[in-house]
Amino acid sequence: MPPIISVKNLSKTYGSGFKALNNVDLDINRGEIFALLGPNGAGKTTLISIICGIANLSEGSVTVDGCDINKDYRAARSLIGLVPQELHTDAFESVWATVSFSRGLFGKPKNPAHIEKVLKDLSLWDKKDAKIVTLSGGMKRRVMIAKALSHEPQILFLDEPTAGVDVELRKGMWEVVRTLQSAGVTIILTTHYIEEAEEMADRVGVIAKGEIILVGDKAGLMQKLGKKRLTLHLQNRIDAIPTALAPYSLELSDDGRAVTYDYDTKGERTGITSLLNDLRNAGIRISDLDTSQSSLEDIFVSLVRAP
Ligand code: ATP
Repeated sequence: MPPIISVKNLSKTYGSGFKALNNVDLDINRGEIFALLGPNGAGKTTLISIICGIANLSEGSVTVDGCDINKDYRAARSLIGLVPQELHTDAFESVWATVSFSRGLFGKPKNPAHIEKVLKDLSLWDKKDAKIVTLSGGMKRRVMIAKALSHEPQILFLDEPTAGVDVELRKGMWEVVRTLQSAGVTIILTTHYIEEAEEMADRVGVIAKGEIILVGDKAGLMQKLGKKRLTLHLQNRIDAIPTALAPYSLELSDDGRAVTYDYDTKGERTGITSLLNDLRNAGIRISDLDTSQSSLEDIFVSLVRAP
């Protein structure tokens, strides 16, 4: 089956001269949940905005279900629902009115049965007459999703749906996304959180500095990304890492009192046991240790640096 979205050689240079996207190629498969991972400023919102027809592309092409987003703008746009990062709705409208109004913007005839279904799927039915201003943050986010689904799109973009959202609500949001997928909607979400991609996505794309640096199915990618960092605090400061420890690619802190070791949590061996032995053999004593999941930023740095 052909991809539902096909992005080819896409570049975007803003009026300021800044190149936010550079030669992006990306296919989204029908029915999948695709997570676009990237640090701040990577180009995620720019990419989504172009596909959704909010920003113009500078070079390349994008088709949505075979419709070119420039030549066939209306047809392409009507296939897409977009939940933007910022919540903006008319605070004094009711949930029902605001969601129905969104449908009208797409020139679709009224369909109360559809609006009712969307509100029920998003657990907003009992709030249909409530003014937006009276809703909790989580409910407001669901209203944004309801608005995006009001015109029966086949594709839903969620731009950082769980940024600044508590754990409970994040899980609720994941449930909603899964329900939508089982109803046949293709979902593309952007996120900073590896855990979110891991939990939700069928495939993951990593974007950094305007370039897609990796795309793959989740399992393969998580193996690549699943690094942890062990920090060993030393009893005595050292000036340099002994050459015998070179194979571990340790990094020495500026004050010479800690070394860090990155290891693969999904690999067969972490190398920690032999590292601790070799440190002892080198006469280095440890006063404390801690581990942390390497942040997305760290991963990007290592991916971008990789030859
Ligand atoms: P975040 O995770 O912070 O939302 P993002 O990956 O969505 O980031 P974008 O919002 O797409 O990133 O921004 C990509 C780059 O393009 C950034 O460096 C940003 O400063 C720049 N940029 C975005 N919009 C404009 C604009 N209208 N004019 C000039 N530069 C812009």
